[in-house]
Amino acid sequence: QKTVFSGVQPTGNLTIGNYIGALSLWVAEQDKHDNIFCIVDLHALTIPEAITAAGLREKTLDVAALYMACGIDSDRSLIFVQSQVRQHSELAWILNCVTPMGWMNRMTQFKSKSENVETIGVGLYDYPVLMAADILVYNADLVPVGDDQRQHLEIAQDIAQRFGNLFGYQFTRPEMLARKEGARIMGLDDPTAKMSKSSSARGHAVGILDEPAAIMKAFKSAKTDSGSGVDLSQPLSPGVVNLMAIYGAFTGKTRAECEAEFDGAGYGKLKTTVADAVIAGLTPVRERFHAIRGDEAGLRRILDRSAEAAAARAEATMVEVRQAVGIG
Ligand code: ATP
Ligand code: MG
Repeated sequence: QKTVFSGVQPTGNLTIGNYIGALSLWVAEQDKHDNIFCIVDLHALTIPEAITAAGLREKTLDVAALYMACGIDSDRSLIFVQSQVRQHSELAWILNCVTPMGWMNRMTQFKSKSENVETIGVGLYDYPVLMAADILVYNADLVPVGDDQRQHLEIAQDIAQRFGNLFGYQFTRPEMLARKEGARIMGLDDPTAKMSKSSSARGHAVGILDEPAAIMKAFKSAKTDSGSGVDLSQPLSPGVVNLMAIYGAFTGKTRAECEAEFDGAGYGKLKTTVADAVIAGLTPVRERFHAIRGDEAGLRRILDRSAEAAAARAEATMVEVRQAVGIG
């Protein structure tokens, strides 16, 4: 059985981008693998101006409840909070020492994220190394993520290899697992920018927990193009392609099937049909979320139990890593 590792930062309200690119993929693959799903709260510290201590604690529990509401089953998968397993931070430090700055300087997410912050912390720059530690500490085989994480996964592979060359302990090479369609959902307000939960732009994102009326409203104002409807004799604009990708992910239809279904349809019709599919898919998730989040003691028990199991696995790796580098 392959080990799967993935995580989401508790930095905001999770979007349909997170759902399509990551969570729904975890659920679809859940029965095939040995799964480790993390709420990466240490990563959320990389933009400290955007968090408060109380807010981060709430969001962390929200994300955990949302994993379960989306269908992650705590009997089949570990669901835990990153900061509860200290080995992630320990390995991150060790990997920092073997990661060339030249590799890090090529990371495009750092460039785009640092544009929006006044004071850039070293942690934001170091984000990919902590992510490498998250993955490598479990010797994960597969990492189901959206396309925006491709570069970070590649650096994790390179760090693993370099660590092996330097110290003789070879981590498992983690492979990326991504959807063919929907690995990069774009903002509804701007189909050239990735939909992100931390963006506050109006009309940008659809939240997994948004109410049906809000979802419909967001889709109705989604940016398409100056045409009036889908015309397959012309190249489709990015906004239309994005709506079809969302529709395909929620209905299980291929791109070709979506195109055939909407050929000749007006944009109004396209938008409301996509919104209806999203609402239908998310309504049960929202209902389950409120039930799970309402039982906070039960939720904490699951997180504690999972963290203990994760820590035992991470520690087994760290015993070998410490031995290999000569510490501990
Ligand atoms: P932030 O703005 O805080 O970075 P985010 O929406 O990018 O938020 P992350 O916590 O960084 O979310 O990423 C969680 C997972 O969701 C990752 O696997 C990431 O690849 C995936 N993901 C994020 N945005 C999208 C998107 N627009 N389309 C598909 N997958 C996405
Ligand atoms: Mg992100």
